[in-house]
Amino acid sequence: MIPEAAVDNKSMQRKDIQYVPLVRFIAEKQAELGMWVCSWDFEPPYSELPDNLFRSKMGKLIDKGYVTGCNCGCGGDYQVTDKGRELISANTIEGEIQHE
Ligand SMILES: [Zn+2]
Repeated sequence: MIPEAAVDNKSMQRKDIQYVPLVRFIAEKQAELGMWVCSWDFEPPYSELPDNLFRSKMGKLIDKGYVTGCNCGCGGDYQVTDKGRELISANTIEGEIQHE
């Protein structure tokens, strides 16, 4: 789901993190937990991202309206919005090129 090269790359930038797999991860985790997703619920490679990069990306997802939540550094309480679900379903096949 996540390109191997995207894992544990110190020079990774926000634009290198694709929207679709991240939003899909949150949607799946939300279903698994039966509630919102907190920052500590994330798994690799997302949990391995530098904190500022992770928060910056989540802020971008919030700005875009794909998720709701808070990226101040608290738990986050992230939830995928209808727009986020549309993004996922529109990109379930090849060609996930939803970079920012
Ligand atoms: Zn907060």
